[in-house]
Order: sequence, then structure tokens, then C-alpha cells
Amino acid sequence: MDFEEIKKPDQNQFTVKSNIKNYDDSYEKSSWDEIYSELDWLPGGGLNKAYECIDRHVKNGLGEKIAILWEGKNGEEEIYTFKQLKDLTDKFANVLNSLGVKLGDRIFVFMDRLPECYIAVFGGLKIGAVVGPLFSAFGPDPVKDRMEDAGAKLLVTQPELRRKISNMLGDLNDLQNIIVVNKDNRDNNPLIEQDLSYEELMEKSSSDFSIANTSQYDYSIMHYTSGTTGKPKGAVHRHQAIVQQYATGKWALDFHHDDIYWCTADPGWVTGTSYGMFAPWSNGITQVIYEGGFSASKWYSIIEKYKVSVWYTAPTAIRMLMKSGEKPVKQHDLSTLRFIGSVGEPLNPEAVIWGNKNFEQPIHDNWWQTETGAIMCANYASMNVRPGSMGKPIPGIELAILDKDFNPLPPNKSGLLAVKPGWPSQFHAYWNNSERYNSRFKKSWYITGDEALMDEDGYFWFQGRSDDVINTAGHLVSPFEVESALIEHPAVAEAGVIGIPDKIAMEVVKAFVALNVGYEWDEKLKREIMRFAREKLSAGVAPRDIGYVDSLPKTRSGKIMRRLLKARELGLPEGDTSTLEDD
Ligand code: ATP
Ligand code: MG
Repeated sequence: MDFEEIKKPDQNQFTVKSNIKNYDDSYEKSSWDEIYSELDWLPGGGLNKAYECIDRHVKNGLGEKIAILWEGKNGEEEIYTFKQLKDLTDKFANVLNSLGVKLGDRIFVFMDRLPECYIAVFGGLKIGAVVGPLFSAFGPDPVKDRMEDAGAKLLVTQPELRRKISNMLGDLNDLQNIIVVNKDNRDNNPLIEQDLSYEELMEKSSSDFSIANTSQYDYSIMHYTSGTTGKPKGAVHRHQAIVQQYATGKWALDFHHDDIYWCTADPGWVTGTSYGMFAPWSNGITQVIYEGGFSASKWYSIIEKYKVSVWYTAPTAIRMLMKSGEKPVKQHDLSTLRFIGSVGEPLNPEAVIWGNKNFEQPIHDNWWQTETGAIMCANYASMNVRPGSMGKPIPGIELAILDKDFNPLPPNKSGLLAVKPGWPSQFHAYWNNSERYNSRFKKSWYITGDEALMDEDGYFWFQGRSDDVINTAGHLVSPFEVESALIEHPAVAEAGVIGIPDKIAMEVVKAFVALNVGYEWDEKLKREIMRFAREKLSAGVAPRDIGYVDSLPKTRSGKIMRRLLKARELGLPEGDTSTLEDD
């Protein structure tokens, strides 16, 4: 592919420049100390995410600035300023205080994207609790597993979700209180047994609260990983993570004070808190929160209506937008969009090119994981995007590619993607699983579980998860590379690629594809796609066989679960499927 195909639009037309004008200069100059000093800190030297995200803006005269532009699933609209958020989160912290929640207690929030979900999370942080947000589409088992593992003391939820998990709540020995939010009286019968009404508690509560004097090393939030490669792990983060979330908001997402930002991730996943709460609000940015689900035309109309300038989304969503075609794009005025970012999976070059054509700017891929807490590697606004690359490490972050003995490899060699420990948003534990945690650190590196290579210009290229990389006749094949080639075929909407054991070649490549509207699966199309793949890739790398699926198995956060494709193909046990999306 000719990378010069991708031309950056003239950023001057928006009268903004990237925060990082020249990547290499700023890399040399930047130090975390400078960023530490841009935050306010608590009197006495403590650090609390809620203070940095909300209270300090009120103190600094930004109380009337809009923090949330909320749109409900039924079209309801609400606006909250930073001052309103301060008062509401202070009130909720007082509620938690009156219920005996103490520093370090785990409280879980199992809610849709309602403003009260955000109020509960920040109220919890203000009192020094460790907050565990849960994705609202979870059924009872995943909720139970996580709350039991974490020893959760309190749950904040809403009536229909409370009913969904009722049967298992009695098994949670540490759970003391359930607070139920009945948004706009949507439910006629919201409370069961000893449940507490959020609205009643808040009515009685004072908005006079002093934030707990948490240190930067106190735990703030815990997220269970997506479960793409196996059983989800409870990664625990500290208040200190705000330092990197704040910095990467400016550097990697190009936040400017007058931006309107929309992060489409749910707070049940790490992107929905690190970048749906902490990064934008620590930067004092106004953000759109949309309660409803995906629909191409609805999403475009949200961008148009709220004049979204920075948009952070995921490859699955982008592939779905591509599938819905160019027509809905053209029906909306998306001219306010200045920066588009993507995370969660590798972003296929085809998607970058499609974005460039339809949004008149490339989509900026960046890489990180639940454990890293914040963006680690990114395509900045100021960089030339190389489609298919996840960019370069952010300032202050050292990434390396290691061989199997954990020694650094030279450029253009594929190997284990590793990070030099000590970055501010580094996770500090897998809850109840120190063995697993310790196993991630080898020879002074944190081993991410992904494979990548770095080219001679320092750009990083994702190859696959270590578990997914295919070894065929001595060649290591990146499933991402094969998938990216397949989706360039007009019939192919999505592709998932796995290795099948083979006596001679060790493994052979097999692909599964889902088709775009208007295409029918038959032998002729299969042969045509196989020929297409052979022309794009070398014969050894191209799939030996292609199977058809209506849709690929994905996690609820939208990641392709190749391990399930493989288990199903080989008739093996499916393992942990707690995060599998419904068909
Ligand atoms: P589990 O650890 O439970 O298997 P998971 O790794 O999918 O689940 P997350 O922490 O949500 O859980 O996802 C992080 C992973 O997602 C990364 O390690 C990487 O494999 C993938 N990923 C995220 N962003 C990118 C990206 N820009 N390019 C390629 N892969 C990415
Ligand atoms: Mg992982």
C-alpha cells in the first residue's frame, strides 16, 4: 500500500494545531514531573481523580462550563455543568458515608449510560472507595463472579438490571446495600426488599463534603479485562493513573478547551472510564454521553447535533459504519469533526482509508489495554498516519519488541510487545491473583501479551495477540494482516483468522468471513476471495480455507474472539464465555 495516499487535512482550517507539534522534540523534552505539576493535588499532597476531574474546575472558575451533554435512549436531554456535577457527587459521597462505605471498600456500579452512573462513580472516588463499573448487558453470572471476587460492599444499579440479577444477590456475602436509581420514574415498581432509593437518599443528603485524602497510590478503580483470550482478570488502578489519562487526552486525543468530545465506549470497559470520564474531565472538556446503542444514522446525527469535534471509538463500530455505506455519512453535516481516534482492536488499513474518504481525515489508531490504564502508543494529530500502524509510544513511555527470552529485538522483527514498568497509569494488581500479576513482568519488562514489530522509523505495527499468532511452516503469520487483506474484498464485512493444527506445516491459516449486504455465500465467491487473498498476501500466508459466518463471535466490548472460532472449529471446550456478545 502506498502510505502517501493518506493526506492529512489542513488542520489550519480549524485554527487548531496538535498539542504535540513535533513528536521527536516533545519526546525529548517531556517529563512526567511537568504533568504532575499541571494537576492541582489535594491540600497536603494527596491525589484524587474526582478532585482533578470535577472540583478543581469549579475552584478555578469553570463551574458553569458544561461537563455533560446527555441524550437518553428515548431522546431525553439533560445538561450538567461542572458545578452541578460537584454538588451531585458531593451529595452521593455523603450518601455513601452515611452507609458506612470507607476508604478502600469496593463498590460496584451496574448501570446504563445514565448521568447517575457517572455521579455514582465519582461519588465513590470522592470517599476513597474502589469503584468497579459493570457493563449493563451482563447477565447474573458475570456480575456475580466479579462482585464476589472483589468482595463488593455496595451496588448501585437500576430497577430492570436489579431484577435481572436478583437470584444471585443472596450469594454475595460481603454485599451490604443496594441503591436503585429510578431515572425519571421510568419504572413503576423500582424497589425490592431492602433496596434503597437513590432519589430519596440524594434528597436528604447534603452537598457539603470534603474529599477523602487519598494518596496517589490508593486504589481508585478496578476493571475486569474483556475476556478475549480467557477468563477476565480484575485489573486494579490507582489515583495516580489520572496523570497519564490527563496527558494523553491532550497528546493522543488532541483535546482543546473548547472541544465537544464523544467517547462511544461504555463505562463497563476501561475505555469508558479512562477516556469516557477521566481524560476528558481532567482536561475540563465537555462531553456527549449517549445512552442508546449503535445505529449508523443515529451516531452521525449525534455528531451533527452536538457539534462533536473529537470522537473516540472502536474498530468494530467503524467496520459497522463502513458496512452501512457512504449514503448515511453524506446525509449529515459532520464538518465539526476535527479528530477521530480508535482503540480496542487493530484498525484495518481499509478503515483508515475509508475514514479519510468519508470524514476527510484519517482515523487515528492507538494502542493500550486495561492493564495500562491509559493510551501507550498513538497516532497523533501531528503525525503522518501509516494505515495499519498503531503509531509511536507516547512521551515518557518506553515500548520494546522482545524475543522469547525477553531480550530486545532490532527494528522490523516481530516479537513480544513489552513496556518498561513505572508508567503513571500502570495497574497495580490483578485482584486476588498476584501470581498472574507477577507472571506479566519479565527481565525488567511488563509483557503485554500482544505481538508487534517496530519499523525503522519507530512506528509500531500490531501483529496479533501472542495466543493468536499463527506458526505455519516456520513463518509467523499475523491474523490481523490476513484479516485486513480479506476485508479489502468488496464482499467481506469482517474476517477472523485462526491457525488449524497441521501435521506438516504445524498450523495452516483458516479464515472466517461475514459478508456485506447484497452478497451471497457460495463456492464461487469463496474461491474468488481465496484468489484475492493469495494475490494480496504470499501463498504461504493466504488462508488455506475460508468458512462463512453470519457474524463473528465477539466480546461485549466488540473484540473478535478468535479463541472461540478455533474452539468451535476444532470441537474443543469454549472456555470462559462470560463476556461473549449475544448473537
Ligand atoms: P483479556 O485480557 O481478558 O483477554 P482483552 O485483552 O481484550 O481481554 P482489554 O484490556 O480490553 O482486554 O484489551 C486490550 C487488548 O486489546 C490489547 O492487549 C490488544 O490485544 C487489543 N488492542 C487494543 N487496542 C489495540 C490497537 N489499537 N491495535 C491492536 N490491538 C489493540
Ligand atoms: Mg488482555
